Amino acid sequence: MKQQYDLIVAGGGMSGVAAAVAAGRKGLKVLLVEQSSMLGGLGTSGLMTMIMASNYWFYGIGKEIIDGLIAEGKARLIDDYPVKDYRRIPFDAESMKLALDEIVLKSGAELMLYTKIIGVEQENGCLTRLVLAGPTGNFSVEGKIFVDATGDAMLAFYAGEPIELGDESGNTQAPTMTAYYAGVDFERYEEFLKTYEDGPAIPKVNMIHDLIPKAVEDGVVSVEDLHHPGIFRISPCFNVGVMNAGHVYGADCLSPEGLTDATVKGRRMAAEYLNFYRKYIPGFEKAYLTNTGSYLGLRETRRVVGKYVTTFEDKSTYRKFDDAIMRFDGGAVSDVHASSPDKKAYQNYYNLFSQREGLREDDYATLPYRSLLPQNTKNLLIAGRCVSADRKVQGQIRIMGYCFMMGEAAGLAAALAIAENKLPGEINVSKLQVELKRNGVETR
Ligand SMILES: Cc1cc2nc3c(=O)[nH]c(=O)nc-3n(C[C@H](O)[C@H](O)[C@H](O)COP(=O)(O)OP(=O)(O)OC[C@H]3O[C@@H](n4cnc5c(N)ncnc54)[C@H](O)[C@@H]3O)c2cc1C
Repeated sequence: MKQQYDLIVAGGGMSGVAAAVAAGRKGLKVLLVEQSSMLGGLGTSGLMTMIMASNYWFYGIGKEIIDGLIAEGKARLIDDYPVKDYRRIPFDAESMKLALDEIVLKSGAELMLYTKIIGVEQENGCLTRLVLAGPTGNFSVEGKIFVDATGDAMLAFYAGEPIELGDESGNTQAPTMTAYYAGVDFERYEEFLKTYEDGPAIPKVNMIHDLIPKAVEDGVVSVEDLHHPGIFRISPCFNVGVMNAGHVYGADCLSPEGLTDATVKGRRMAAEYLNFYRKYIPGFEKAYLTNTGSYLGLRETRRVVGKYVTTFEDKSTYRKFDDAIMRFDGGAVSDVHASSPDKKAYQNYYNLFSQREGLREDDYATLPYRSLLPQNTKNLLIAGRCVSADRKVQGQIRIMGYCFMMGEAAGLAAALAIAENKLPGEINVSKLQVELKRNGVETR
């Protein structure tokens, strides 16, 4: 294996995949390092098997992958999401894993699974090497440019970049264990939901608000978590549903002890919710739990405080930055989940989520290139859910459609920098916008 790369992408989630593919297609020597056995990050190992994307502002490599899966019948498009102009595209994790392996390898990027990044080496304000731990022990690889697509901002953290965590008190949004349940009679379930159609919220929410307190009283579930989104069918052919099985409140998602505890609790909750559905909901009598995510669903951990922190004000004033690298819907919801299960925290969540009246849903905000650049490390780019944005913006652009687009921009920026022998902060962003447009990504 070559030991020196033009670009090393850390983390093989949706943002890392797009970065590696974009740069690989441009002829760079790319290495994509992933600690688990698969690509896709939370989208596969976390079982978040539903692309959420705006009708208008989702383009590029991510769309290419999803369109391919839809064409093969391995994902499908549902246009009935209660948030206007949003699409849900459920896919199955196995098809996605295959598609991601293929697109990465075809791009020419090298893929290294089962390898954890455990440190960085630095010189003159640049990263020089990543220290890796793999099945043969520890070793290092040398790169010219690096993309941090680890979700947890691992490279930025190792490099000593400024970081923010959660709210003002450091509380992060509660994580969720996601689970697949098979043997569901969806027709009867849908029929049952119709009895909850009256009221301001969607039937699933009304149902949960009615039944969860009762289930707690009956000892069926242990936490009165009113914020439970219900179950979604992942395939039209099979009776399998995916569920974000509650929230693990108070979890510390950046320590081994905290992650262990939260994962154990998350799995327990997935089993509890099976009991809940079996007991109260028609259609679930014969349902069973087939698998939980091999990785806990982390909504947020570290956010890099980069050269520019994109804010809720930027989003809600539909700001069009000169150095924009992607568009996102200014009028869409900010999905900042509560850190605790109390009713006030849920109400705060709900108020922010529903804060859409009067917003121009057909207009867009933009993410500036500077939000991909950390403050100090000159050859590092950030992509995905740890990008430099405030919580409310992170609560929106962490969905997979946007993670793909951030990764693609980072990969193309690296390609421009290598071609012109520059650092990422020195490239001409207009040229990046032209490259993005060539890939179908509208930026301004
Ligand atoms: C409960 C829940 C429900 C969600 N629902 C949806 C939804 O319906 N639709 C939607 O579009 N989005 C949804 N999301 C959001 C979305 O799934 C994630 O935000 C997105 O997938 C993040 O992508 P990413 O590439 O930034 O990071 P990740 O998916 O977290 O990928 C990071 C990758 O880096 C690897 N990595 C980390 N550290 C290291 C290291 N030290 N060494 C090597 N590799 C490392 C990880 O193993 C992982 O593969 C949901 C999220 C959660 C938690």
